[in-house]
Amino acid sequence: MKVRNPRTGQDDYEITPVDGAGIAATASRLRANQPRWAALPIAERCNVMLRWADAIEKHAPAIIKQLTIDTGRSGIAAIEVGGVPGTIRRWAEQAPQIIDRNSPSDVPSANPTVVNSTRLVPFSLFGAIAPWNFPMTLSTIDAIPALFAGCAALIKPSEVTPRFVEPLRASIDDVPELAEVLEIVVGDAATGEALVANVDYICFTGSVATGRKVAIAAAEAFIPANLELGGKDPMIILSSADPAEAAKTALRASILATGQACQSIERLYVARAIYEPFLEALVAEAEMVRLNYPDIHQGEIGPFIFAPQGQKIADQIAEAKQKGARVLTGGNLEILDGGTYLRPTVIADVTADMAIVRDESFGPVLPVISFDDVDEAVSQANDSVYGLSAAVLAGSSEEAEEIAVRLEAGAISINDGSMTAMVWDAENSSFKLSGMGPSRMGESGMTRFFRKQALIRQTATPARIQDFAEENFVEGYMR
Ligand code: NAD
Repeated sequence: MKVRNPRTGQDDYEITPVDGAGIAATASRLRANQPRWAALPIAERCNVMLRWADAIEKHAPAIIKQLTIDTGRSGIAAIEVGGVPGTIRRWAEQAPQIIDRNSPSDVPSANPTVVNSTRLVPFSLFGAIAPWNFPMTLSTIDAIPALFAGCAALIKPSEVTPRFVEPLRASIDDVPELAEVLEIVVGDAATGEALVANVDYICFTGSVATGRKVAIAAAEAFIPANLELGGKDPMIILSSADPAEAAKTALRASILATGQACQSIERLYVARAIYEPFLEALVAEAEMVRLNYPDIHQGEIGPFIFAPQGQKIADQIAEAKQKGARVLTGGNLEILDGGTYLRPTVIADVTADMAIVRDESFGPVLPVISFDDVDEAVSQANDSVYGLSAAVLAGSSEEAEEIAVRLEAGAISINDGSMTAMVWDAENSSFKLSGMGPSRMGESGMTRFFRKQALIRQTATPARIQDFAEENFVEGYMR
């Protein structure tokens, strides 16, 4: 399978997708090794994981180099690779306490002769399927706590961005105990389907359409499916917000990583009183943003990682214009040396029936809608099949929070935007079509990988069958 380079448009890499038999063989090897891994005391699992963090740092230059080609951007590739050892170290600090807190022993029961203990039993084989927008982060974000929990892990990154896998694998090979229970495979939809059929717990990050297929396959396989899907995040900007500051925040929250982030702000609802100065500031700020072309080490906007995404957005913009929207800046796809780029695009006079307001864009596009009445803004923000996250900007956090709690989404940034990109310790559930299952953030990020086994200890003589004889009951009560 040929792989396209997002900066040149050339197919300059190839993968051989792992087939069903390959996945089954890998799964059975990992599954066989998992009991030994799970039996290690958590302190030892932590030591192994910490050695992996060091190994990733050792291999970081090679991983960053490949991830930069995969994604067409350099600074964010470095942030992604640099972040993973940090994530491992954070979980290493927290995992022992989380296990301790959730596995109490000798707890008195409501039944006076019984004492309870809880054992945490990890799922044997965890599986992850990841998208192309943050390949390194999203391939590892769930696997790391799963490994700390004692699961073996099988990861499949996107076929659009597979180059970083080889150097990442080299870091795993440096830690032989880990290599026994962690494997990363390359492949496309067929590989993903085989993976779902072979694991005991699946974490899927990607589009709603594929998430639905994965959920159906997981139901067939009778395994839990944790789905992290798309979004169309709204930002409500109240009249008490400073329009110039709000414009800067909205721009960053919308176009960081070229808008190719699930938690990007994709709809702006702005109070009429500050609409004009806000729009003016937003356009001015947007026009200062530079492409990271021709020099990859400069500028803020990269090429589309997955070129068809650019065309999808171009179609959304064309439809909006045709229905009367005004493009104030940006709006044209630029093909530069084979890479597909779009400068930050601010669109006014958009309406709720336009695809650019309704459907996920996944690019640097800011449709702006004014409102007179905040109830109207809340109801428009909630008028979406998605419920990933949202944001409210106001003059005070109290005022913003009053609106925040009325929004139907799993995480609301208050006086900032897209905070879930940076804040990983706040548990949040995706609402509506944006996902399903426990939060990947916070403590549940790890506890979801355990089944709880109750050890129910009888300290007296167990009940006898005669105790339940009919004559022992009077009017439904035991004598
Ligand atoms: P996608 O759904 O096209 O693909 C995601 C992964 O699924 C890829 O690895 C692909 O090979 C695999 N796949 C495809 N068909 C499959 C099948 N039938 N069974 C199993 N696996 C299959 O998504 P994408 O285009 O790579 O990523 C963009 C989407 O991801 C956007 O919608 C974005 O919002 C979403 N996303 C969500 C989050 C989140 O945390 N909620 C984070 C990042 C991206």
